[in-house]
Amino acid sequence: MNFVILDLEWNGAYSKKAKKFVNEIIEFGAVKTDEQFNIIDTFSMLVTPQIGKKLNSRVAALTHITNEELFDSNNTFTHVLSKFKKFLSDSVLLTWGTSDILTLLENHKYYLGEKKLPFLTTYCNLQEYCEHMLGHTDKSRQLGLSTCAQMLSIEVEGLELHRAFEDSKLSLLCLKKLYNSEAFLEFIEVANDEFYRKITFKNTVIYDIKNPLVDKKEFYICCDKCGKKARKKSKWITKNRSFRAQFKCNKCKRDFEGRLTFRLKYDGVSVDRRIVEINREEKKEKRKGIFAKTNKTNND
Ligand SMILES: [Zn+2]
Repeated sequence: MNFVILDLEWNGAYSKKAKKFVNEIIEFGAVKTDEQFNIIDTFSMLVTPQIGKKLNSRVAALTHITNEELFDSNNTFTHVLSKFKKFLSDSVLLTWGTSDILTLLENHKYYLGEKKLPFLTTYCNLQEYCEHMLGHTDKSRQLGLSTCAQMLSIEVEGLELHRAFEDSKLSLLCLKKLYNSEAFLEFIEVANDEFYRKITFKNTVIYDIKNPLVDKKEFYICCDKCGKKARKKSKWITKNRSFRAQFKCNKCKRDFEGRLTFRLKYDGVSVDRRIVEINREEKKEKRKGIFAKTNKTNND
């Protein structure tokens, strides 16, 4: 079994044909490895945009790809994809997070009219695997590739980050450091109908307290210092798509605000609990005020 780690760069462009913005792929980069994660082949190709005539400045600054390079390369998406299909063959495809695979799906649909990737047999979300291995449980904050590399003390100097090929190499280094054959197998998925339903599922935040998916039993907060259930001092209110109430931990003699966010995900409802120190929050507000003033003075 071989593995292919793919990374893509894309540019947001408005399509008159589709009447919407499309994340148009401008670069494919990938490494192919054997089962011991030795690199046995590499892939790096630019794609000449057909929708957007110009790279937006944010993408240009991040990737250092120039418009000239893209147009000189003279490769259509369909051409690069056919090369990539041969490169992938029957390997397991890996990407860091689902945005690359979703963007590949989006482009595939745009240019070829197909909603699925017929060449894809098996897939692994490397980000999800690394989060699992590092015990990263805060699902509201996804683990970035460079953060993961830092946590694993991987030297990123000399790598041209935010370029497809280099990012795919960095993803491989992270995987190598966190590899456990048994755990890894659990993360390999077959690209069947359920797989497509899962990756295209749009997570939503539920902030209507009357929604039956909002379980009243979840309305509690434990003190993050001692772990004891805190005493609720106010009614729950809805603000910025979360439910909030004031709490007091009787043991630690501290007051704080508890915030609950209910998210509807493919595999059910998840609840994120957060504690916000009241004092700290006030200070932050004050500081924001000062910054706003300073900026204004500078602009004047
Ligand atoms: Zn406490």
